[in-house]
Amino acid sequence: MRKLYIAGNWKMNLVPSEAAEYAASLAKAAKDADVKVMIAPTFVCLPAVVEAVKGSSVIVAAQNVNDHESGAYTGEVSCKMLKDIGVNTVILGHSERRQYYGETDEFINKKVLFALENGMDIDLCVGETLEEREGGKLEEVLTRQIEVGLCGVSEDQMSKITIAYEPVWAIGTGKTATPEDANNAHAFIRSLIERKFGSTVAENTIIQYGGSVKPSNVKDLMSREHIDGALVGGASLTLEQFLPIINCNK
Ligand code: PEP
Repeated sequence: MRKLYIAGNWKMNLVPSEAAEYAASLAKAAKDADVKVMIAPTFVCLPAVVEAVKGSSVIVAAQNVNDHESGAYTGEVSCKMLKDIGVNTVILGHSERRQYYGETDEFINKKVLFALENGMDIDLCVGETLEEREGGKLEEVLTRQIEVGLCGVSEDQMSKITIAYEPVWAIGTGKTATPEDANNAHAFIRSLIERKFGSTVAENTIIQYGGSVKPSNVKDLMSREHIDGALVGGASLTLEQFLPIINCNK
């Protein structure tokens, strides 16, 4: 039985004082939630947010990490730095990283392997653009992103990996994939994981949906067989919107 996993990607929003105040309220409000909850603030907000949620079950994640131990990588943050402040989870391969910062599947794979070596949990984002979907390339794109993104990952390490299926055309646009379309894409991703890692790993892997998830559509999405949670952008920025999403199974 897969437990629902709801994550909030705050992207480049909220200054540390706002982030800490919101995180503290969220930690209190989410105390009776029957789902796993994660929030991913910007690097600069991480220490304050870790402090604010201390003692709660809310997981704090980074939105990115470098693929080297340390050294001359100006502007970058290492796994060791994150772990030192109590951050053990990272989002990798978000479409905005792919689109604006040129991250390829091969590069994302390097980060996946390095983060795993460092004992981190990973939320790996995959998903097609509108052009790819309309060009009939959905399965081809997902196959490449999963095959390359998870290349060299062992069956055991898969317990550290969550997949977030985020159709790029649904991110921040207000357009949501229909629950049927999303479920079909999730089923396909699960079949790829089964082919690569076997049926037990496939059964246990959490696959989140992301793309304009909000209080009004979350229940329908989460009721589908292969949708095990959500990676939420815009609607994770206020308690008013994020709390009903976290409580979607009540
Ligand atoms: C995201 O960026 O991961 C996302 C799903 O954003 P939004 O919920 O705003 O579409």
